[in-house]
Amino acid sequence: MTGGHELSRSAPDVTALVASWAGDLARLAALPLAGEELHHFLVHAASQVANAAAVDPVDVDTARQVGASMVDAGLLAPDVLPITVSALARNLPTAARSAGADRPHETAPTVEAAVADGYVARLRARILDEQESMHRTEVAARRQMEGALRSSEARFRAIFANAGIGIGIVDMEGRIVDVNTAFASMLGYTVEEFRLLTVGDFVYADDAAQMWELYRDITEGRRDSARVEKRYRHREGHVVWTDLTASPIRDADGVPVFIVALVEDVTALRELRERLRRQALHDPLTLLPNRALFQDRLSAAFAQPGRRVGICHLDLDRFKAVNDRHGHDVGDALLIVVARLLDKWVATRGHLVARMGGDEFAILVDDPPEGELAMLADTVLAVLTEPIVIDEHRLVVSASIGVVEYPVEETTPAEILKAADVTLYWAKSDGRNRWVRFDPERHARDMTRYTLSATLLPGLERDEFQVEYQPIVGLSDDRAVGVEALVRWAHPTFGPLRPDEFIDLAEETGSIVQLGRHVLTSACERGAEWNSAHPGAELFVSVNLAVRQAHDPDLVDDVMRALETTGLPPHLLQLELTESALLGPAGRPVEAIMALAGMGVRIAVDDFGTGYSNLGYLPRLPLHTLKLARMFIDGLHTPPADASPIVGSLIALAHALGLSVTAEGVETPAQADRLRASACDTAQGWLYGRPAPWHETAHLLDTPLPPESRPAVLTPGRPQPGS
Ligand code: C2E
Ligand code: CA
Ligand code: CA
Repeated sequence: MTGGHELSRSAPDVTALVASWAGDLARLAALPLAGEELHHFLVHAASQVANAAAVDPVDVDTARQVGASMVDAGLLAPDVLPITVSALARNLPTAARSAGADRPHETAPTVEAAVADGYVARLRARILDEQESMHRTEVAARRQMEGALRSSEARFRAIFANAGIGIGIVDMEGRIVDVNTAFASMLGYTVEEFRLLTVGDFVYADDAAQMWELYRDITEGRRDSARVEKRYRHREGHVVWTDLTASPIRDADGVPVFIVALVEDVTALRELRERLRRQALHDPLTLLPNRALFQDRLSAAFAQPGRRVGICHLDLDRFKAVNDRHGHDVGDALLIVVARLLDKWVATRGHLVARMGGDEFAILVDDPPEGELAMLADTVLAVLTEPIVIDEHRLVVSASIGVVEYPVEETTPAEILKAADVTLYWAKSDGRNRWVRFDPERHARDMTRYTLSATLLPGLERDEFQVEYQPIVGLSDDRAVGVEALVRWAHPTFGPLRPDEFIDLAEETGSIVQLGRHVLTSACERGAEWNSAHPGAELFVSVNLAVRQAHDPDLVDDVMRALETTGLPPHLLQLELTESALLGPAGRPVEAIMALAGMGVRIAVDDFGTGYSNLGYLPRLPLHTLKLARMFIDGLHTPPADASPIVGSLIALAHALGLSVTAEGVETPAQADRLRASACDTAQGWLYGRPAPWHETAHLLDTPLPPESRPAVLTPGRPQPGS
């Protein structure tokens, strides 16, 4: 991608541009460059302007130089500039795109203007030079010879006759002494016809006074030359805008005898300027109002108290695929069609439709009537269900729309735009081709999630994560056989957080890998410490692994390193995984887990019974323990006790497969009794101890944990032990 980009930047595709440019120029008589030579010149010039339009910011200097180089190459005929401007207007965007421009329709007009500007500036400089040397010649001549004026007129005429810029000579009474072809044809006349005119024939009456004043200023020596933008009437009645430079030619005594006017047709330039001005507020591709204009109108809407403002922010679904598959020109054409549809269905209802950039559009509804926004959003979605045909491509497009509406007092333009943006994103993530209304609660939840995921890794650095431990107890003797490590986050702004509030996020962002490593190492350290202080205790530590961790290529290394550095024997580490973490995409056991089991690490199925509920995979996994999910144990003290047979048969099944069973969430002695009766091996729950920091859990570990002797610390609303 990048390579192709670079390549095309050095050699943009300018074939179409050069063909149209050269074709039009070739129709001009008396070009100084022959066919092949002209072609080379134009290829070079076209490549330069294409590249100039492809860089950010646009390379105005190079574009101006291209214009100037045309003058230097002798391309001076009157039509050279209009031909150039129109060839560029038609073909530069495509050429610039091939040079790597992202938004050629926005940069091309600036480059065109710079080329024209460079051309005109160089032409003007050149003619003024010629006029200057003519003047010197003339003064010298006058000193030598009476009546030399006539001959110098002849010389002057020879100099200007073929110039691409209009030149007129007027005497001090305002009579036209001479004009060149360029000036005459600029206004639709031949030179002969033009000489018979009076100034009033082509100067607008309203401009006459100003013209005469300028004239007097020059003749009376108040100013030496003047430059003004001036309009003339064309023979056919329309206006020709010119850039006029007037300067006197004086006799040997310094008395002005003629005025020379250099006249350039700047009608095309003015149009270009007007285009540039419109471009500041409109999108050049679709001609829709742009983001700047949208924002202006939005601010204006907020200036009216007591009203509401509504925005539909829409974005085409999978627009990038259209560009990738069919090319940017088809993509551009699609945007134009969509813009027209929006214009037809929405703008005609009086709402502002803007292109916000790329494939994003926005509708501004000032004081929307009840239901208007929903109606608009429905309409747009419905209109887009028709396939759009571009060239031979049938494009099926859809859009996602975010809809926001607020009284102006309750928000600001920036906030409502942001809300629209957020809502658009929801429409996308909810499945596209739909509209969604802004929901402040969902937004608050999103923000919390966003903050959490952004602060997770820094929080890990700052040691905000602590590991708590919960005893796992043998049901036959109430002695602890292991502890489960459970992570907590002491969040600086949200306070203490339970894993349910951040583990999913950590999974989504991938930071679970780092977090998991922290838990694993902490747990192995505790286990190693305890076991070396209590030889023969054989207490295992049980660590939860998320799906993402199970698939992390470094998992086996991480575990090996944790065991090595802490000295914990592998069989005293248990890894708890859910069924979905244990099985890969094709239903095959995850390899890393097989490897770890091979090293002697115990593997437990966490929350057993809540996942696949397909028991067929059990024999194929290197398992040690099933952890029965709390929902089964919860059922054990509900009076009909119909969960009991399930628990009993799950335990029997596990035993038949040679697995041990841990019951989770044991809160009452009654539950413990039922489990013991079903031959469950181990139990974990508030009855034996809540998850707590290591030092609080540790002192429970070397004595039996008889339920009777433990204070009941239960959340309100839960049945008390034995109740
Ligand atoms: P889990 O692995 O099923 O952990 C058991 C959850 O049940 C823990 O919630 C524990 O505090 C709670 N619990 C224990 N005994 C009782 C009881 O008697 N009654 C009731 N009602 N609950 C009890 P916790 O600590 O909020 O953890 C929630 C889940 O977060 C865990 O479920 C586990 O899936 C995940 N988790 C916790 N720590 C980690 C970790 O370090 N890594 C990963 N990947 N996941 C973790
Ligand atoms: Ca667990
Ligand atoms: Ca569990």
